[in-house]
Amino acid sequence: MYFKAFCAPIEAAMKILLVEDEVRLATAVRRVLEEEGHNTDWLADGGLALAKAEDEEYDIILLDVMLPGLDGYAVARSLRAQKSTVPILMLTARDAIHDRVKGLDAGADDYLVKPFALAELLARVRALGRRAKMAGGAEPDALKVGDLELDLRSHEAIRAGQRIELTAKEFSLLETLMRHPGQVMTRSQLLDSVWSYDVMTESNVVDIYIHYLRNKIERNSPEKLIRTVRGVGYSIRAG
Ligand code: CA
Repeated sequence: MYFKAFCAPIEAAMKILLVEDEVRLATAVRRVLEEEGHNTDWLADGGLALAKAEDEEYDIILLDVMLPGLDGYAVARSLRAQKSTVPILMLTARDAIHDRVKGLDAGADDYLVKPFALAELLARVRALGRRAKMAGGAEPDALKVGDLELDLRSHEAIRAGQRIELTAKEFSLLETLMRHPGQVMTRSQLLDSVWSYDVMTESNVVDIYIHYLRNKIERNSPEKLIRTVRGVGYSIRAG
C-alpha cells in the first residue's frame, strides 16, 4: 500500500534506464525511483539495454555488471565509443575493487557496491543528475518542515535555532521523511530506503530510530512533527 496524496517531488523528474537482472533488487530500485517522480525503464539484458540506450535519451543509466547478453562493462564501453555522455552509475558486486576500477575505466561516472541502501542510491542519482545539468541550483542545501530544518551538507537538524547532531541512520531516516512531507511512509518503505533492500527481518529497527529521532528533535518543542499512523508507518508535517 502506498500513499501518494501530498507527495511533491523536490528534484526535477529524470528519465532513467535501469539495467539489472536481479528481480528483487530491480523492483525495489524502480519503486523508489518512481516514488521520487522519475520515469524508469527496466531491462535485465545487456544487449537489449545497449540497443535501448542507443535509441532513446536517458538522463542516467544504472548499470549492473553481471548481466545476460552483454556485461555492464561492454555496455558502458560501447556507449562511450559512440560518444554518449549519459551519466552511468555502475552497480558492482561486494568487495570487488578490481570491478570498480574496471567500471570507471569502461566509462562509468560512479559506482555503488551491493548491497546498498536505497537512500544511498538516490543520493548518487541526485548527484549525477545535478552534475549532468551543470546549471545547478536544483538541489536545496536544506529541507524544511515547520520550524525544523535539515542541513543536507552538515547532516545536522536545526530546531528553534539549535543544532542537533544526528547519526548517519537518524539523518537518513529524517531526510527520507522530510523529502515526502505530509505523506505516510510505511515501515517497509523506510526500512528499504534507510537500511537495505535485502533486510529480510520483520524488524522494529524503524520504530527504534523514530524513538531516537523524537528524543533528539521533539523533546524540547511543543509542536510534534513526526506522526505515527497506526498500523501503517510514519509521516512528518507541521500544523
Ligand atoms: Ca547481475
